[in-house]
Amino acid sequence: MSAVREDRPHRRGWLTGSARWWLVGLLALLLPPWLLPEFQVTLLNYIGMATLVVLGLVVITGVAGIVSFGQQAFVGIAAYATATLTVLAGGSPWLGLAAALALVGAVAALIGWVTLRLSGHYLSIATIAWGIAIYYLFGNLPQLGQYSGIDNLPPVALAGWVFDTSRKSYLLIWVCTLGALVGAQNLLDSRSGRAIRALRFRAAMAESCGVDTAALKQVVFVQAALLAGLAGWLHAHFLRFVSPHAFGVNAGIDYLFMAVIGGASHVWGALVGATVMTLAKEWLKDVLPQLFHNTGNYETVVFGVLMILLLRRTREGLVPSVMRWLPARPPRAAPPADTPPLPRRERPAAGTPLLEVTALQKRFGGLLAVKDMTFSMQAGEILGLIGPNGAGKSTVFNLISGTLPASGGEVRLLGERIDGRPSRDIARRGLARSFQQVHLVSRMSVLDNVALGAHLRGGKGTVAAMLRRDRAEEARLLAEAARQIERVGLGASMHEAAGSLPLGRQRVMEIARALAADPLLLLLDEPAAGLRYAEKQALAELLRGLRAEGLSILLVEHDMEFVMGLVDRLVVMDFGEEIAHGLPHEIQSHPAVIEAYLGGVE
Ligand code: ADP
Ligand code: MG
Repeated sequence: MSAVREDRPHRRGWLTGSARWWLVGLLALLLPPWLLPEFQVTLLNYIGMATLVVLGLVVITGVAGIVSFGQQAFVGIAAYATATLTVLAGGSPWLGLAAALALVGAVAALIGWVTLRLSGHYLSIATIAWGIAIYYLFGNLPQLGQYSGIDNLPPVALAGWVFDTSRKSYLLIWVCTLGALVGAQNLLDSRSGRAIRALRFRAAMAESCGVDTAALKQVVFVQAALLAGLAGWLHAHFLRFVSPHAFGVNAGIDYLFMAVIGGASHVWGALVGATVMTLAKEWLKDVLPQLFHNTGNYETVVFGVLMILLLRRTREGLVPSVMRWLPARPPRAAPPADTPPLPRRERPAAGTPLLEVTALQKRFGGLLAVKDMTFSMQAGEILGLIGPNGAGKSTVFNLISGTLPASGGEVRLLGERIDGRPSRDIARRGLARSFQQVHLVSRMSVLDNVALGAHLRGGKGTVAAMLRRDRAEEARLLAEAARQIERVGLGASMHEAAGSLPLGRQRVMEIARALAADPLLLLLDEPAAGLRYAEKQALAELLRGLRAEGLSILLVEHDMEFVMGLVDRLVVMDFGEEIAHGLPHEIQSHPAVIEAYLGGVE
């Protein structure tokens, strides 16, 4: 997905591979102002500014799943902020930029804090609502010139160079746009980027890997707003004029269209979408009046129809469809052999009390799914939790790992209470888990999915990622992920999309992801389901090896044969309660267990 992925720290020859393409791209970028007529340069400027806004939208909507119809409001806030400061208060455009970004950042943080808690459609509706509110605010405030706006903005000047024509503004606009495109691309190809890509469908999994998903959503929302703000500042000083009409709800819908046309899950989709839509609109504006023999906003109607046709043909937008025809990108280079390994957690001595579950309860409405579960585990053992379907095993898992809040009872890890804590906090204390229904980011490679498991072993944030100040740490995280993938036997699939693996392998990949966290306690929910006999044996061998290294494993499993040869002790539950516990051979002949298995489920 990334155009700059090969840009690894150990590749120093700067004019090799991708660097050469960057140079060609840069030169191509410098040509238009000299070659094209003024009018077309102006169009390119509009495309650049729209790309900035749409890029933010791609990251929040296409990648993180936050559908916003309100980006134009941030464009407007920035444009008005710089207009007010430069025209009404006489400040410089650079001061205007600082003020615009500060204001947009603050407003976005506030709006994000209120609306990001809403889910799905409510969030989108809220973005429409504040988009409308801000439009009318601009239009009605006499200080802001109401619907006629503010004019006579000064042009931006830098080191004696005044950006006062389309051709000169072109450079300013496109340096910002390209910088933002590269930054966003870098961001998505990083530790934070993996977490962002999990936000849309896999927030619970990301939390179990230690990601603070609410905080991350807030961060990307503010960053997208800042991009829109930058576009607003450029817009204001390029046109030297602001009025509310450019920041109405239809502008917000246009931006969303652009994202969808280009490919909302792809950074370069922003550029393609903004280009296609801006040019097509311009062209339709010329052509349609001739067809209909009068003027009117027919282009909006035609655009709606074209949009529906496009979506019928390609749901994902233009960029992914085109990429399908291009040769596949080579897999990313392996981290250099001298990458230092990540530090490891200290493991408690075998026999130390590790997990204590006391009178644990979970109520789902009228159903008491877990009534009263009490058991404990020592460091270095494999404990099997078995029982018929619907007994409450997965629920017990979700309570221990913090994925679900308990209704009662206590859970302690190494003596400290963890019930009531968020799952990311429990992950930090050394618990890692797999899910019964696999939870993975299907378009991301196996390597990236597993590296997400090592999230807490890195610390570089979004800004470091955009600037590529995270490469050394990233190499260590990826090396660790690759090691765990080799270990579980998925080495050959490392660069495949995780969603393309057979289900059994996806489960095994979840184990690698959990191991990448370097846990003390591993919770596995039916890891052998969907595996063939030989694969099950390999998995059992792997789990024994992990135990020998001092890892403790709590295993839910259906396959009796698999469990019996592997676990140290068993806890059997039915209808939310323990019905037996003991050594495997004791459990096999336990009357209550035979009754539960034979009487309950075939
Ligand atoms: P097991 O993993 O042992 O098969 P589960 O823990 O998945 O069982 O489910 C135990 C019971 O709780 C079942 O009756 C199931 O339908 C119910 N249950 C599980 N999760 C939920 C939920 N999120 N909401 C409502 N009921 C649930
Ligand atoms: Mg289950």
